[in-house]
Amino acid sequence: MTVKYKTIKEIKKMISQKEISHKEIIQDVYKLVKENSNLNAFISLNEEKSLKKAENFDNNPSDCSLAGIPIAQKDLFCTKGLRTTCGSKILDNFIPPYTATVIENLENAGCISIGKTNMDEFAMGSSNETSHFGNVHNPWGDNLVPGGSSGGSASAIAAGIVPAASGTDTGGSIRQPASLCGITGIKPTYGRVSRWGMIAFASSLDQAGPMARTAEDCALLLNEMCSHDIKDTTSLDNEIPNFEDNLNNSLKGKKIGVVKDLDLSSLDKDVIEVYENSLKEFVSMGAELVDVSLPNLALSVPTYYVVAPAECSSNLSRFDGVKFGRRSKNPKSLEELYVQTRSEGFGDEVKRRILIGSYVLSAGYYDAYYKKAQQVRRLIKQDFDEAFLSVNVIMTPTTRGPAFDIGSKGSDPIQMYLEDLFTISANLAGLPAMSLPNGNIDNKPIGLQIIGNFLDESSILNFGHMYQTKTNWHMFSPEGVIQ
Ligand code: GLN
Repeated sequence: MTVKYKTIKEIKKMISQKEISHKEIIQDVYKLVKENSNLNAFISLNEEKSLKKAENFDNNPSDCSLAGIPIAQKDLFCTKGLRTTCGSKILDNFIPPYTATVIENLENAGCISIGKTNMDEFAMGSSNETSHFGNVHNPWGDNLVPGGSSGGSASAIAAGIVPAASGTDTGGSIRQPASLCGITGIKPTYGRVSRWGMIAFASSLDQAGPMARTAEDCALLLNEMCSHDIKDTTSLDNEIPNFEDNLNNSLKGKKIGVVKDLDLSSLDKDVIEVYENSLKEFVSMGAELVDVSLPNLALSVPTYYVVAPAECSSNLSRFDGVKFGRRSKNPKSLEELYVQTRSEGFGDEVKRRILIGSYVLSAGYYDAYYKKAQQVRRLIKQDFDEAFLSVNVIMTPTTRGPAFDIGSKGSDPIQMYLEDLFTISANLAGLPAMSLPNGNIDNKPIGLQIIGNFLDESSILNFGHMYQTKTNWHMFSPEGVIQ
């Protein structure tokens, strides 16, 4: 009996029918972690505590909704007593004294956090190549990137090690790796999930969310991850629906926005074909396609690469060798302590972002770059507001193509930044968006992006789940279709 490739739903059933004990599940997960160590998906494991928690569930059965479900946590979330590196050398010895709210919520629901997943350093990247702990490999091909920054989480699910993982998404870091690894992931509405205890990259864009095999599992996870949190001043106090309630609603008469300004010319024709086939699938379920216009969409990548570095340069100033993590040895002055610690502790991409951020925030350039970017951000948000007056969801491809080779884009940051062409606008506008597998190209998975209106995760989950009842792309694994 194994939990390899099983969904949360299936594991819950195995537990309730007593086909497997909690301890056997966790033992099996660690066996899978070890068998797949070549993926480099984990930075730290939590074996002893996880086994103890499982034994506890065996001895004292719990009716918590996710009791005993193994989950991998992105190494960006602070976990009390468990090393949290954020993929960086500067935090390679950091053991937080507290746990992030979202992790606490999942654990209170019964999830067992089996370890911390590898990621791009401080979540800056789209391929996992910026991690201090080495590249994560995509189970679909050893030389393929898993996407980033939540690449370790996506890789672990795609390999069938865990049914679920947490991720974070500032410009696409849940959806892009989900697309490249053939799994399902959601970036919720900004403010739905508490950011307390998440190591900040760009605070006005960062949002945590679930990654799993199916939309249905994402709904189960989202039910537990969302909460109003007074420790995060941007946390929303809106009612949190039961995200499972609308999964099976009919799509008849529902409207899908198709973005007419989207420039698909740079995409492979296979990618366009996969995308158009999915739209047809929705039409066959009764949905209607409606042209929508997002005239400022093309400005989202440049806008993001002003706003995100600006916020990161400010957020990362706290890593100075005094309070957290590494400290340079034998500095001769306070200034040298700062300079040496940061020079030694940060990788090239993080340094590049800090430089760009400091530049666009500097007195001489603030109006020309930062202020302008904020104005364009507002226009992008207004475009979406307008579009959602006439549609329920908007669909685009998630990525420009399937997974690419490790090392193939590393030398050109701009090419890497363009990876998030389709995902970034949802972060700038604060909207919920999901990626789910909708095809294979050359035996590599690829995803469809469904963007929802503000606070309307239920609609994207409904569309995603209905698609997964009609198609089996989410059932494809690197070893063939999961039975
Ligand atoms: N790839 C984007 C970046 O490098 C987005 C990363 C993210 O969402 N954390 O900034």
